[in-house]
Amino acid sequence: MEAIITGKNIVKTFGRGGEQTKALAGVDVEIGKGEFVAVMGPSGSGKSTLLFALSGMDGVTSGSVTFCGAALSELGEKKLADTRRTRMGFIFQQPTMLKNLNLLDNIILPAAQDRKKRDGLMKKAKDLMEKTGIAGLAARDTTEVSGGQLQRAGICRALMNSPEILFADEPTGALNSKSAEEIMRLLAEINRDGTAILLVTHDAKVAARADRVLFTKDGAIVSELPLGRPGGGDMEARGEKVLAQMAAVGV
Ligand code: ADP
Repeated sequence: MEAIITGKNIVKTFGRGGEQTKALAGVDVEIGKGEFVAVMGPSGSGKSTLLFALSGMDGVTSGSVTFCGAALSELGEKKLADTRRTRMGFIFQQPTMLKNLNLLDNIILPAAQDRKKRDGLMKKAKDLMEKTGIAGLAARDTTEVSGGQLQRAGICRALMNSPEILFADEPTGALNSKSAEEIMRLLAEINRDGTAILLVTHDAKVAARADRVLFTKDGAIVSELPLGRPGGGDMEARGEKVLAQMAAVGV
């Protein structure tokens, strides 16, 4: 499989002097184009730091990260920002929205750097809202929707530029199990349409939808579980495999 992101011997250290934390201690990782990879591990094991490093949101102390063959550290600030904005999408536990804008405007805002494209963006945002089941909420205030609906809006916003990869840091962490399930169905569908996903989660049911699960501990990838593409009705068995591996690894 052709790689979209390759990390080689990534080390990330926080702090200086005597108070240093090695958040990543020499990680090698490759994410394939269109692949869905989940990352699991105990709190503080380096999951978020890995996601930040692979997306270029934060630099690395040593080692390299390449995106479609280009080293992120050599892109320069503007090209790196453009790459992140146009080719990557980001979803967090709770999307940050501007309170004085309605849901539709919040979805469009980050993509609307070019005013001339506004009509096209409006159509794209409305199509995405339709696809994610929040078409009727365009004019709503962001404080007048449920957590699940807000996360759908966050996903729409992340998809506005049709990214090649979606980075998701515990996207279902703040949701009830029904909303979490719906968000995961949506992410699986987005992945089936060709977008790669790198997702951090604590939930075996969520990880079960990935092609592969990486397990982190003390800043290293200590284990990997290949699950393959999900087929019809095998989700429970995949979840069992993830739980067994979590127990084996001690997550
Ligand atoms: P996880 O996502 O698995 O919970 P993190 O990647 O957030 O773990 O953190 C890994 C380690 O790096 C932890 O020990 C954490 O305290 C430390 N760390 C993360 N971010 C920072 C930061 N900005 N400054 C200092 N230490 C940090």
